[in-house]
Amino acid sequence: MVIYAAFLGGLGLIVGSFLGLVSLRLPRGDDVVFGRSRCGGCGKTLKPWRMIPVLSWALSRGRCSDCGATIPVRYPLIELGSGLIGVWAGLHSADFTMALMTGVLGWNLLIIALVDAEHFWLPDQLTLPLFLSGLLTAVLLYPGGLSAALPSGLIPPLIGSAVGFGALWMLAWLYKLARGREGLGGGDPFLLGAGGAWVGWTGLPSVLLWASAAGLSLVLAMLIARRRVSGTDRLPFGVFLSIGIWMTWLYGPLGLS
Ligand SMILES: [Zn+2]
Repeated sequence: MVIYAAFLGGLGLIVGSFLGLVSLRLPRGDDVVFGRSRCGGCGKTLKPWRMIPVLSWALSRGRCSDCGATIPVRYPLIELGSGLIGVWAGLHSADFTMALMTGVLGWNLLIIALVDAEHFWLPDQLTLPLFLSGLLTAVLLYPGGLSAALPSGLIPPLIGSAVGFGALWMLAWLYKLARGREGLGGGDPFLLGAGGAWVGWTGLPSVLLWASAAGLSLVLAMLIARRRVSGTDRLPFGVFLSIGIWMTWLYGPLGLS
């Protein structure tokens, strides 16, 4: 729906500027929600007109108007990415609740992928909301309406979560047993568990297939760029899982749709 896409695209730009802050503050342990936006160069509080997503950055040519410090291009890029997720969610859905919750999923996955790519870290502060919003979505979209959804509507997402968490936890345990070192990050089972609340247990194999395809593409790209890849290279698996959860939510379990 074009109207949902326009609305969620705009909302996505605003969400994106918040996500940009989260991606900076959460790994530092700063207050994520409160605390005013400041210039990284001079520390001055940003005026409201300097916080318009993408536009402020473009008009100031990526510089602080007080001290001239460069404002990293990652911020407008995160805002654009978040806006595109909103457009994608809107175009994909014929129902507003579906469109909005799809946007929420995409924005949550974006910040998870970003923090994992930059810090190899999947904090509970990001995966727990993904789990809870998955439960909420299952209830909101339950065919029989809200009264019928409780508690039976919670069963499929809870099974999906348990299977997703359990499968990766087992895999990590087996890997450690066989190789004597950690192969997966500690947060990966929690991310697939949270994703299971969205896609259900039948969606989990496709999540892993999409994730493997995304991971292999990156390794191939690195090989083509003639970077050496070894078995001990760390890959941000959470990024690939996020892509897998997103694609499976939108396009259904592979082979079943
Ligand atoms: Zn400044």
